[in-house]
Amino acid sequence: MAQNAIRETLEHEIVDVCQRLHTKGMLAAADGNVSAVFENEILITPTGRSKARVAPSEMAALTRTGEILRGSPSGERLMHLAVYRQCAKAKAVVHAHPPAAIAWSIAYPELLELPAHAMSELILATGRIPIAPYARPGTAEMGSVLESLLPKHRVIILGRHGAISWGEDLEEAYNGMERLEHAALILKYAKELGQITDLPKTEIDALFEIRKKLGDRTL
Ligand SMILES: [Zn+2]
Repeated sequence: MAQNAIRETLEHEIVDVCQRLHTKGMLAAADGNVSAVFENEILITPTGRSKARVAPSEMAALTRTGEILRGSPSGERLMHLAVYRQCAKAKAVVHAHPPAAIAWSIAYPELLELPAHAMSELILATGRIPIAPYARPGTAEMGSVLESLLPKHRVIILGRHGAISWGEDLEEAYNGMERLEHAALILKYAKELGQITDLPKTEIDALFEIRKKLGDRTL
């Protein structure tokens, strides 16, 4: 496939991810941003556009050092660049504002991670999901609060703001965001119904062992 055609396919895939995030209620108005690596460029959603309406032709492009090659890239691009800088395997980054995941960081500001010991699928599919401390959106600090969590974690809640998920392709990055919000909702319902109970310790250990064998990818 010619290079242009490959880039256009990727731009369409980014739009597809934006629409899925919007349909799932993980974005309001112009919230969120999605990027993917194409050769030496990073393709990223434009600033100030609703992810429900953005078109493939509107994608902006950056170098890995942040130089703008085309278009008007998202104001949160520093966070994407921080992920690509620290994670050699990262080929795509999804940032959204999943409501239940954010709510956990607001209700329990002391929480360092989503309560992972309650659900087998959370351990198997993503491993622990840490909560990064609050940093003002669009600032370089957004990248620095992630530093200690990368490249180990592929799905991270950004305190009082949103979440970031990276992957070796767009599908993995999107799946991480969907999994996170699904797990955050289940835990929220459990808490509302009564309490969050942990799996037995031996089962938790066994699940983390299986996760280790499955590899680093978000499933
Ligand atoms: Zn944001």
